[in-house]
Amino acid sequence: MSQFNCPHCKQPAFSKWDKYLAAKWKILICPRCERRATSQPLLLAGYYLLYLANVIDLSFLAYLTSNMYWLIAMVVIWIALDAFSVYLPLAAMRDRGTTERAPEPARRTTQPALELKFEPAL
Ligand SMILES: [Zn+2]
Repeated sequence: MSQFNCPHCKQPAFSKWDKYLAAKWKILICPRCERRATSQPLLLAGYYLLYLANVIDLSFLAYLTSNMYWLIAMVVIWIALDAFSVYLPLAAMRDRGTTERAPEPARRTTQPALELKFEPAL
């Protein structure tokens, strides 16, 4: 039951559970083209700030007001954030081994200006 398209081959490849796991920073591998995909990392980072704000703010409210219903609200909002995380867009990842490596630094061909020699003093 694939509902979400692969960002590489644009074919339906991922289930809701796959997308849920991708929102937990899991790397997905498309069963059709075998290329890697994951949730948009910048969106995920922002999304995790929402989780953080949820926990910090509502537990602080529960502490300030001595009202434990804020903790129930925190759990409800957490579940809602988890449910909505399925709809975060997928991003295509580069294939392994195809990344361009930086060229090696040029080797020094000239002699150093000052060459130090250390001889043991006997
Ligand atoms: Zn694919």
